[in-house]
Amino acid sequence: MGQLPFQPDFLVVGAGIAGLRAAIELAEAGTVLVLAKRAVTESNTQLAQGGIAVALSDEDEIGLHLQDTLQAGDGLCDPAAAKVLVEDAPARIEELIQWGTEFDRKGTKLTFGREGAHSRNRILHAHGDSTGREILRALYAKANTVPRISVQEFEFSTALMVEGGRLCGVHLIDSAGEQQAVHASAVLLATGGLGQLYRNTTNPEVATGDGVAMAFRAGAEVSDMEFIQFHPTALYLKKAPRFLLSEALRGEGAYLRNMEWDRFMPKYHPMAELAPRDVVARAITHELEVSRAKDPVVYLDLTHLNAEHVQARFPRIYATCLEYNIDLTTDLIPIRPAAHYAMGGVRSDLDGHATIPGLYVAGEVGCTGVHGANRLASNSLLEGLVFGARAGKKMREELRSHRKVANARRAVSNGPAETVTEGIIQEIQELMWRDVGIVRTGESLKRAIEELERVRPRVAHPKTRRGYEAQNLWQVGTLVARSALARQESRGAHYRTDFPDHNDGKFLKHSIVKGEAIRFA
Ligand SMILES: Cc1cc2nc3c(=O)[nH]c(=O)nc-3n(C[C@H](O)[C@H](O)[C@H](O)COP(=O)(O)OP(=O)(O)OC[C@H]3O[C@@H](n4cnc5c(N)ncnc54)[C@H](O)[C@@H]3O)c2cc1C
Repeated sequence: MGQLPFQPDFLVVGAGIAGLRAAIELAEAGTVLVLAKRAVTESNTQLAQGGIAVALSDEDEIGLHLQDTLQAGDGLCDPAAAKVLVEDAPARIEELIQWGTEFDRKGTKLTFGREGAHSRNRILHAHGDSTGREILRALYAKANTVPRISVQEFEFSTALMVEGGRLCGVHLIDSAGEQQAVHASAVLLATGGLGQLYRNTTNPEVATGDGVAMAFRAGAEVSDMEFIQFHPTALYLKKAPRFLLSEALRGEGAYLRNMEWDRFMPKYHPMAELAPRDVVARAITHELEVSRAKDPVVYLDLTHLNAEHVQARFPRIYATCLEYNIDLTTDLIPIRPAAHYAMGGVRSDLDGHATIPGLYVAGEVGCTGVHGANRLASNSLLEGLVFGARAGKKMREELRSHRKVANARRAVSNGPAETVTEGIIQEIQELMWRDVGIVRTGESLKRAIEELERVRPRVAHPKTRRGYEAQNLWQVGTLVARSALARQESRGAHYRTDFPDHNDGKFLKHSIVKGEAIRFA
């Protein structure tokens, strides 16, 4: 091992929905190397439960899907990006079905579920609550039938190579632990999310914001980093991971109850449990704060719903909760919010082109502005699919200007010793949760930036994969905190008690960070 198999025309970093979809498109023009830093099955895509949104049901219209998307984005969606998302969706979904994705059906008809802030039933799901896993299975199987695509697992990309102002490849630590430089005519980052920045998260261990950090360090612009979606309902048990309890549970009629067993959401929002996620997450945070319990929780309650239907509709959630002795159909489930999704990321146009020539992004790592200040549930798998395909198509044009350069192995350099420990990562996660979490203030954000600055020397010279992840978490944490401090208003998922209202005059714009400079445009 140690030598990657070939010198590709195109490099795709990330093998989730966005990366695999793009690779299939790219293979029409040349050879594609897809890298995953662990097994392909370790990704946000694999964990996605609820489903994928598409206006395909008899009662639905593309215009309504657009309207709901714009509304969830709280004034900040890029309307052109949102239009592309909903208009490209039906064709991309039909294609997924042709490639073998088995969405749930009643007889021969697709079944469309409902989720928070959607005005129609439009969520396709697979095997009840294993939608992402099924889509990934089908895309990976399809990619494996294309000879020009090679998917390599356990290849960890550490940095982007820029020559003469143009992206020309990536540095990586390969599966044998050796450093390598791989060149390509264009690079797509599809590295997913950054939930591991926070102490409580629904995201898997791979979600350390590597793509955003690498692109930022290479000189790309990043945008809307302050907008982190906290999922309201993650399982909260001392020794259990923060397993996601899908929005679709509330879509099917689950209630939220506080420690007095009162159903509290109707007093916070007319849509009650189906209100946008940020509203529900803040309502829960408030209920936790006013509770006099020592370790308060709130509960998700499905006990009034048909037990057989609940078991059939949510087999994976049902089985997981049972492992912790909770029966969804008879017990209340203890929950708290957890970091879930990054609306911001590497700034790109509608074809995924970032602000460095030769660099493309798609999926959760990117920011077209499609989600604005808050993502509509089930629009992110769709984003990966739609913008992955678009980026792949556009990148094919880059091949013309490509000059082949030999790939190279590099000796591991002997810089100062790495001092990263798991402790530093935990320190970052704790401070981000406390000071840059669901409810923020100018004071808490300044404190976070100062503390991050103190951590900087300890993450500055990474040598191992974990060392790079620590540096990347530090980098994206700093970007989130800086952007949140600059946005002196509350909007979507960004809530500041010192600026609790919108300020459209100044901030109906995207935050954009490049190096030390931050601007709104
Ligand atoms: C628990 C959970 C439930 C969700 N449910 C839904 C849902 O129901 N509907 C919905 O629309 N969205 C849902 N989401 C969000 C959605 O799953 C993600 O936004 C989407 O899957 C992101 O896809 P992606 O291709 O951008 O990234 P991912 O699927 O996360 O893939 C990232 C890939 O990048 C690779 N990678 C990362 N860093 C490196 C590196 N340095 N070097 C090499 N490879 C690297 C990883 O190995 C992985 O292969 C959910 C998310 C979670 C966590």
